[in-house]
Amino acid sequence: MAELNTDVRFLKGVGEQRARLLAKLGIHNTRELLEYFPRAYEDRSVTVPIAQAPFDQSVCISATVSAPPLLSRVRRGMELVKLRAFDDTGAVDITFFNQNYVKNALHQGETYIFYGKIGGSPMRRTMSNPDYESARRAGAKTGRIMPRYRLCRGLSNAHMMGYVRECLDMAAGKVPDPLPESMREKYALADAGFAYENIHFPAGFSALEAARRRLVFQEFFVLACALGAVRGSRRRDGGVPVPRPDTERFYASLSFEPTGAQRRAVDEALRDMSQPCPMNRLVQGDVGSGKTLVAAACAWAAGQAGMQTAFMAPTEILAEQHLKTLTCFLSPFGMRVDKLTGSMTAKEKREVKVRLASGETALVVGTHALLTADVEFSSPALVITDEQHRFGVNQRGALSAKGKRAHTLVMSATPIPRTLALMIYGDLDVSVIDELPPGRQKVDTFTVNESYRQRLYGFMEKLVREGRQVFVVCPMVEENDETDCQLKSAEEHAKELAARFPHLRVECVHGRMKAAEKNSVMAAVVRGEVDILVSTTVIEVGVDVPNAALMVVENAERFGLSQLHQLRGRVGRGGHKSWCILVSDSRTEEARARLSAMCRTNDGFRISEEDLRLRGPGDFFGSRQHGLPEMHIAGLGGGMDVLKTAQDAAHELLKDDPELRRPENAALRERVRALFEAKSDTLN
Ligand code: ADP
Ligand code: MG
Repeated sequence: MAELNTDVRFLKGVGEQRARLLAKLGIHNTRELLEYFPRAYEDRSVTVPIAQAPFDQSVCISATVSAPPLLSRVRRGMELVKLRAFDDTGAVDITFFNQNYVKNALHQGETYIFYGKIGGSPMRRTMSNPDYESARRAGAKTGRIMPRYRLCRGLSNAHMMGYVRECLDMAAGKVPDPLPESMREKYALADAGFAYENIHFPAGFSALEAARRRLVFQEFFVLACALGAVRGSRRRDGGVPVPRPDTERFYASLSFEPTGAQRRAVDEALRDMSQPCPMNRLVQGDVGSGKTLVAAACAWAAGQAGMQTAFMAPTEILAEQHLKTLTCFLSPFGMRVDKLTGSMTAKEKREVKVRLASGETALVVGTHALLTADVEFSSPALVITDEQHRFGVNQRGALSAKGKRAHTLVMSATPIPRTLALMIYGDLDVSVIDELPPGRQKVDTFTVNESYRQRLYGFMEKLVREGRQVFVVCPMVEENDETDCQLKSAEEHAKELAARFPHLRVECVHGRMKAAEKNSVMAAVVRGEVDILVSTTVIEVGVDVPNAALMVVENAERFGLSQLHQLRGRVGRGGHKSWCILVSDSRTEEARARLSAMCRTNDGFRISEEDLRLRGPGDFFGSRQHGLPEMHIAGLGGGMDVLKTAQDAAHELLKDDPELRRPENAALRERVRALFEAKSDTLN
């Protein structure tokens, strides 16, 4: 195991600089490198005769260079090396752009394997910038299935292949296998060594398939074991029963009538809380379904019994919003609501801590600052987490250790398909708020292409003139993403809009901004001081701007369905008629299916089912939408059947060895531990 956690700097050719580039891709040690699976493969295993090579499809040909390659200068900064090569069936004109060294690397009369796309016509076939190697020493770049890695500037595919190769050689025979042998036999799964070798350097397509199947299974299996272990340890705790008050007194204080779904969720939670074992309930409801009220009612019930509640918000902005709302709900009952966030002064924090320790504060709303060791409650009873996916395992661990035996209520606006929820949450209880407060308008959704851009801008301006605010979301642009050229980056798009609407207030928030900067822009948005906010998906979570009436999503095909649904939920929160416009030029079947599902329905659950159907569970997890760790196998496929099998296998194993103490399960325990420790990963 130790060998696999070796720093990548120990690999040949990886110095400080390359290590930094690898870190950008999330690779710090050899294990992460081995789990950096190719995003695609190129079939270079067969060589075809030139005359039979299909056009516009990458193939290998074996051809002999007929004359010395010629170098020519087309214009400044553009040089070509041209040559002609032939086999028994025909000839091809090959051009290399700006690769002068090729002139001396390829020799007349020598045979090479070229890999590239055949262009031109049957009369004159051509190939540009092929990859090549001498037919006498073939096997490194051709004659095999080649992995293609996701890269970043400064790291080539060849670099990655070299590092992975070295790493595999180093680990050969030493890769610990988290799947015990009995399990591999039972489910006919390849062993770890074979799987890592063949996912990177497949010996053939069936080997690749076997590797893929095994790795997909492994990810689901380790996850299922981790969730199972959490569950097991949870059951062993005892809780603090909170007597059930008459909720009508609480409802009577509201300025509106709670919906039936809200009442039901409150009843379910209060019933759990009255029990001596700790509640562990998830409240799922679409954005705007009124989850905060459910949280408030539970905190109120605890407060009635003189017990305290901690309410965790993912960001300062949200903590601020919740503070206001919850104060409105609870202050009529003389309950004190406080806030504890990182940006408060030491003095302010100290005062809140004193009130928490004395029991004066009934409910504290906070961010991570709530989790520091010196925060003490006099009688903690309930922990509420909003938008759980922003919290890591460690943080949740810290919180439950603090409020030991506290009841937990997690609120999520990301509906999870029922089929998956059952598997993921197992014995976590779920309340669903499937009814929106009355008078809520449906957000009208349209998909448009570039040709509508002028009309779209006109519409944006019209709404702003009417006093509304507009959100524009752009996809996160990854460096070196080959398809990037037409993608709108939030920053550039904001500049474009600012130039186009000089009289409007256009602002931008994106992931690379410091938290304080982001917060100050968001605060201005909430105050109505920004007309158009351009952002990456950082605004996705919870911020309530009732005045926002239009959500524009650029390159909408780039977003998952659930994500689009979340984004759409940012508008239509006030009484104003609201719209969501998905801008996309994509014509792929899948993108069209996804976007049209968005236009058809506003129901988050239907959308999540559709998302699962379109993407499969691996990709579904990969989006990190569900508070679950990102999976390496996202993109490798793997259907519900694999997930189900892995789940059953995990249950079976945990029944025999609930804490993974057996020696044959040591490697598995290690993986489960790693899953919990991964810094950015989140798991509930
Ligand atoms: P979310 O589920 O997205 O967290 P909120 O709790 O923020 O939703 O509620 C959204 C808005 O709906 C808030 O302004 C809230 O006051 C209002 N609201 C909640 N429940 C009701 C109700 N039963 N009737 C009318 N308005 C409600
Ligand atoms: Mg909310």
